[in-house]
Amino acid sequence: MAMIQFQILKKSIKQKGIFKVMPIITLPDGSKKEFENFLTIDDLSSSIGAGLAKATVAGKINGKLVDASEKITEDSDVIIVTNSDPEGIEIIRHSCAHLFGHAVKQMYPEAKMAIGPTIDNGFYYDIDLDVSLNDKDLELIEARMKELANTDYDVVRNVVNRDQALEAFKNRNEDYKIEIINEIPDDEIIALYHHNEYTDMCRGPHVTSTRHLRSFKLMKIAGAYWRGNSENKMLQRIYGTAWSNDKDLKKHLILLEEAEKRDHRKLGKELNLFHFQDEAVGMVFWHPKGWSIYRELEEYIRRKITKGGYQEIKTPQLIDKKLWEQSGHWDKYSEHMYTSEADERELALKPMNCPGHVQVFNQGIKSYRDLPLRMSEFGSCHRYEPSGALHGLMRVRNFVQDDAHIFCTEDQIESETILFCNLLKEVYEELGFDKVSIMFADRPEKRVGDDSIWDKAEDALMKATKATGLPFDENKGDGAFYGPKLDFYLHDAIGRVWQCGTLQVDFNLPNRLGASYIGEDNNKHSPIMLHRAILGSLERFLGILIENYEGRFPLWLSPVQAAIATITSEANEAAEKILEKLQDNGIRSVIDLRNEKINYKVREHSVNKVPFILVLGDREVQENTITIRRLGSKDQKTINVDECIELIRSEALSPDIK
Ligand code: ZN
Repeated sequence: MAMIQFQILKKSIKQKGIFKVMPIITLPDGSKKEFENFLTIDDLSSSIGAGLAKATVAGKINGKLVDASEKITEDSDVIIVTNSDPEGIEIIRHSCAHLFGHAVKQMYPEAKMAIGPTIDNGFYYDIDLDVSLNDKDLELIEARMKELANTDYDVVRNVVNRDQALEAFKNRNEDYKIEIINEIPDDEIIALYHHNEYTDMCRGPHVTSTRHLRSFKLMKIAGAYWRGNSENKMLQRIYGTAWSNDKDLKKHLILLEEAEKRDHRKLGKELNLFHFQDEAVGMVFWHPKGWSIYRELEEYIRRKITKGGYQEIKTPQLIDKKLWEQSGHWDKYSEHMYTSEADERELALKPMNCPGHVQVFNQGIKSYRDLPLRMSEFGSCHRYEPSGALHGLMRVRNFVQDDAHIFCTEDQIESETILFCNLLKEVYEELGFDKVSIMFADRPEKRVGDDSIWDKAEDALMKATKATGLPFDENKGDGAFYGPKLDFYLHDAIGRVWQCGTLQVDFNLPNRLGASYIGEDNNKHSPIMLHRAILGSLERFLGILIENYEGRFPLWLSPVQAAIATITSEANEAAEKILEKLQDNGIRSVIDLRNEKINYKVREHSVNKVPFILVLGDREVQENTITIRRLGSKDQKTINVDECIELIRSEALSPDIK
């Protein structure tokens, strides 16, 4: 190394006559480059190729993300960040927020800019402006952003001290920026970004030219208190989405449209499945049709876990605070717990089922022969969530978990995890999700238990994960303090990913709540507890199912499986008999004898997404047949009544029975 540097030194002195050592740049493929002058990231990518230069958004010098205008001044590992890298897209989103500021200040010079961070798929900016912006205004601001971006102006970074920063924003009347600057710690760099006459403040990095900002859209306006505090002023929050190219932007907008069509809150209303009201915020009022789906799902899971060797129990909703103190929930979780009082005792609604399950385990002496012991409960939990976090069925305050706890020995963790993973895979597949992935989280810094048991548990989970053959990722250090965990993600019909299932190893709670078993060595041991759920919350999972199927549930889950519609009143009597037969065969059916045109009836049942519409006219009655119309198909076929009933019956079997 010293030798190489000496040679470069000599070369520099010889060629330039000055004392200047040029750095050696190492690229990700291991190749090394040296140049006659100090280069910026932009210069470096230009030296490699015009295509790369065009796509370069920023760079990484020795692992540190920097602007593309940053000079490489010492021997460094350099990575060029392009507009297709996740970090590059993030920078584009952030720079778009500044571009938004630039446009807003041109159009509304009196606006005060607060903060403009990136979020999933885009950014927002909070602004203080007396005029209330509307959708039309957003269109105009967006048009101005496009105009400005199309001039391909340079974005210039400038590192300043606190006084210079204050000066820059004082002149611009930016009270919020001034408040922020005054709170920046002394040792932190303050960087200003100049977009022509507009200046924003940010750690960066940012794009060096607005030519990177082409594919964005302003989405909506909402209210937001400054610093999230309701005692502060309400600001206007403008959301935008930004991408590295128009194709991705378009794809995202289509996905949003698709998601809106499938929104479970909208479908829940249209299909009469459930509702919410103010008297029970965050808690579901299930209607007959919604509850029918719920019960089918619950029964299905019950059959699956019974086959899997689980024993179902039921534990109390309201439990003395003492137990929650003992379990540690009171200390860590009490702000999310609902409390009550009776007989001069403080009580709390359970937010989790685990402590209750340990109480059941603790009844009677357990031996190693009793393990593994798999205890399940459809456990109704209450958790206080801030009202802003609630979202239809996806985030509620009262929900039922398909919960279970497996009490086992250290040596059984692996086999139990493999069994669980297989069960989960089967369930997801049978419910229509064949794309599943796993996130493996291992020991955090703060934890209980010896390293030897962590080694064993992590090893067991990793082996089980690999045995599933499912794609997985590792989240280093993200396990709970009481053990490593697996989280399971399913991918829905429009490519969205939902975390549902989980398996967590727990070395702590059984011990804390005095659970023990007699081992083969005749000594007392503390069992390991595996907390696991497949669906997670039944409410949320139903929300996911509604959106995944767009309300067109598979036959076995459909609240109404068949609707009989008569063409004339002469067919009514025969229709009643067919209804009876369908119901005798366990097929959820309705009858439509209204004096309406058959097309009208068919349309209405189609809108309600009934899978089988059975049409009955004079000819069908005479021939003891029925005409079947399936949802989503224009074809119809006329078959014998008994044949029809058998067809529906066999198709309506749930996937675990078929
Ligand atoms: Zn648990």
